[in-house]
Amino acid sequence: MRCPKCNSALDAEYDYKSIQRTIRKDEFMRECPGHWKYWPFMPVGDLSRIVSMGEGGTPLVDLTRLMPRAKKFLVKYEAANPTGSFKDRGSSLEITKAVIGGRTRAVIATTGNMGSSVAAFAAFAGLRCKIIIPEIVAPAKIAQMKAYGAEIEITSGDYADAMNIAENQVRGDPESFLAGDYPWRCEGTKTVGFEIADQMYWRVPDAVIAPIGNGTLIWSVWKAFKELMITGITDALPLIIGVQAERCDPVVRAWEERTDTIVPIENPITVASAIACGTPIDGLLALKAIRESGGICIRVTDEEILRARDELGSNGVFVEPSGAVSFSGARKTGDLLDRKTVVCIATGHGLKDMYGIE
Ligand SMILES: *Cc1c(COP(=O)(O)O)cnc(C)c1O
Repeated sequence: MRCPKCNSALDAEYDYKSIQRTIRKDEFMRECPGHWKYWPFMPVGDLSRIVSMGEGGTPLVDLTRLMPRAKKFLVKYEAANPTGSFKDRGSSLEITKAVIGGRTRAVIATTGNMGSSVAAFAAFAGLRCKIIIPEIVAPAKIAQMKAYGAEIEITSGDYADAMNIAENQVRGDPESFLAGDYPWRCEGTKTVGFEIADQMYWRVPDAVIAPIGNGTLIWSVWKAFKELMITGITDALPLIIGVQAERCDPVVRAWEERTDTIVPIENPITVASAIACGTPIDGLLALKAIRESGGICIRVTDEEILRARDELGSNGVFVEPSGAVSFSGARKTGDLLDRKTVVCIATGHGLKDMYGIE
């Protein structure tokens, strides 16, 4: 699942000419937005075998009143997915791949949401599921994984240790499927980007703001916008703005220092536990997305994250702390968003981690 030479993530490539032929444009343009609508951009041939629970098709909510300096400020509310986070998009594709490959067990290391998501899709598809978690995972998320019948192993190490354990447990076991931030997950996660453009009648926003944990989400969104342009569906690309928590900011540091070396942060602890990835597997791809798009990468403090969470909540959009990181970042972009159309990705549901709410 990794490059044997440099140990970083692999990437999937497509024959875009053939995708263009597959999408009969009129129909594609008119059909309702939703995850599997974009199947030609995903590595599946047999649609009769997809594992789907209605993921995607999430609301794009207009909250321009919170950011009046922008021309339009839209929030992509990913909490509306079946297990409460955007992870369901990647899980739907991963478990589809596991089923088609004849696997009977999914194994995954997680900071929380990916575990509950994979557990749900595995259970739905009749697969067993083993989850390895670091100690910082929020209690409600562990309860959610248990509700889906997953077997849980807690490690005293951090997320990077959990990943090593997971990778070791599938090695040499043909029954097991390693889920996580590997190529298929990115391919499934791209549908956030497709959907944003689709919901804006195939116009591309000026900027998209996303949190960075492992970096998979932000890279997937960028890849999606590039693919829409390659296939002639859209004619522009957004600025990509990445946001990390100050207590776990390895990608921001690399961006500021203009290097391609991401220095790991050990045992990161932040209220935004879903993005506490000290060794981000797609960190370099996140940097690439930001650089190619001409965007920026910024950090926000735990206090700023919680304030953003409360502000979104009191406007009807309840997210967990990590889900407020992008909005919190939007508040710190200076005049960059002035008169722009901006989409901010609110990644996870508030009920998953109610830190500090009495
Ligand atoms: C996974 C997750 C993120 C970070 O996404 P990456 O793909 O790891 O960068 C952000 N917010 C929430 C709620 C998540 O579950």
